[in-house]
Amino acid sequence: MKRINERVIKLNDANPNPNAKYVLYWMQMFKRTTHNHALVFAIRQANEFKLPLVVYEGLKYYYPWASDRLHTFILEGVEEKRKAFEKVGIRYIFYLQKDKNDPKQTVAKLAKDAAVIVTDDFPCFIIPGHNKTIAEKARVPVYGVDSNGVIPMSKFDKEEYAAYTIRPKIKKILDNYLKPLVEEKVQIKSLNLKVDCPDIKVNENNIAKLVAECDIDHSVKPSEIYHGGTANGRKRLKKFVEKILPEYDTARNKPDRDGSSRLSSYLHFGFLSPLEIALAVQESDAPKASKEAYLEELIVRRELSYNFTRHNPEYDSLESLPAWVQKTMREHSNDERPVTYSPEKLEAGKTHDELWNAAQREMTATGEMHNYVRMLWGKNVVAWTKSYEEAFAILEHLNNKYCLDGRNPNSYAGILWCFGKHDRPWMERPVFGIIRYMTSRSTGKKFDSRKYIEWTKKLL
Ligand SMILES: Cc1cc2nc3c(=O)[nH]c(=O)nc-3n(C[C@H](O)[C@H](O)[C@H](O)COP(=O)(O)OP(=O)(O)OC[C@H]3O[C@@H](n4cnc5c(N)ncnc54)[C@H](O)[C@@H]3O)c2cc1C
Repeated sequence: MKRINERVIKLNDANPNPNAKYVLYWMQMFKRTTHNHALVFAIRQANEFKLPLVVYEGLKYYYPWASDRLHTFILEGVEEKRKAFEKVGIRYIFYLQKDKNDPKQTVAKLAKDAAVIVTDDFPCFIIPGHNKTIAEKARVPVYGVDSNGVIPMSKFDKEEYAAYTIRPKIKKILDNYLKPLVEEKVQIKSLNLKVDCPDIKVNENNIAKLVAECDIDHSVKPSEIYHGGTANGRKRLKKFVEKILPEYDTARNKPDRDGSSRLSSYLHFGFLSPLEIALAVQESDAPKASKEAYLEELIVRRELSYNFTRHNPEYDSLESLPAWVQKTMREHSNDERPVTYSPEKLEAGKTHDELWNAAQREMTATGEMHNYVRMLWGKNVVAWTKSYEEAFAILEHLNNKYCLDGRNPNSYAGILWCFGKHDRPWMERPVFGIIRYMTSRSTGKKFDSRKYIEWTKKLL
């Protein structure tokens, strides 16, 4: 591996193919046609090699937690990308592998005619494995490009302990990065290029049919509230900046109100870039306190999560927790849990706790859970399961199965925060030891919990 610049790493030692027909951009996580450092790098490569650019996006049927909900959200962003790429002369291929009988190894086949391959450098879930495999198999250079955050992940070369350690480092350099990305244009068009790869035309009328044909979990239904794609993300961003941001500072912790951005799913699938959002927030007329509160979440907290999964290979287990947490967990692992629930009861949202059940309902019905109840949701699963390991496994499964924004660095940092990650010790108590504790009674008093509970009942 060789670092090319602060956002780009060369993942293998191969040399460019002299007989190539194109440069290939394998779009995995940054599913957008602007504000995308990987696409900009790929266009520059194509222009340098005097070759056209082909953009390939694939959707498999067998990735963990693949469901109607996740597939629909992704497919809702396909047609707009095709149109946007067509306008600028770039051939875009979308391949939906529906089941085991469909063609395999599409990237490897496309790689044969590529001068170089550019792909997205995302620090968790299935992407690091994909990138390792393609870098080993391809006979041409493979570049991983980081368009995850406002600041490149490479600016922080080790795992940060908490928000208070990364915040000053971010503040020092943020102004250098809060600038619009200079977009690039291809010099050679690729629209009529013959490419050996199946290409599936997706539009709003065939999405349901395509999803029904895939060998995926059909029990998790598409969200009726959140729809995928950059245009839908931008619609929400506009509403957020104009109507919600001015009061974000106080309203974001009120699950009974529409008081936060609800942009995390658009960020997860890369339909929106954090840079585009941060610039829109920075340029708005909202009060300084609200803008600062929002940018703290979008940049400091979010980039702390990316830093965590980039540098900690145990990010998807309790092994990644700090020493003080490991010690307190050892001391309290055998504490009696007065109430426990099976994974099935939890998934069905059938506990004694109305507020917890409501949060679970919001997630299963809509594909999102409000940030404020999400913390309580996680903490209560720690209290109501027989072991910390079981609690983690249940939280990871439910979060990643139902949430559109799941399977993300924030998913792991958020779940592990419930076990003390990125936090500090608190007063000692049973089961939690010195890990911070939350109760539904006190959390529910901080907003109109009755209104929130009643709202979630209407969702089913
Ligand atoms: C148990 C648990 C699980 C979580 N799972 C996920 C997940 O799967 N995916 C996910 O994106 N977030 C997760 N979070 C973090 C947070 O709850 C969500 O990012 C937030 O609810 C998204 O809503 P929003 O877009 O309205 O946030 P806003 O309040 O509008 O914040 C703006 C953006 O900042 C980022 N952000 C906000 N809070 C956090 C945080 N605590 N840590 C890191 N980044 C943050 C998100 O990208 C968010 O979209 C989890 C938190 C907990 C406690």
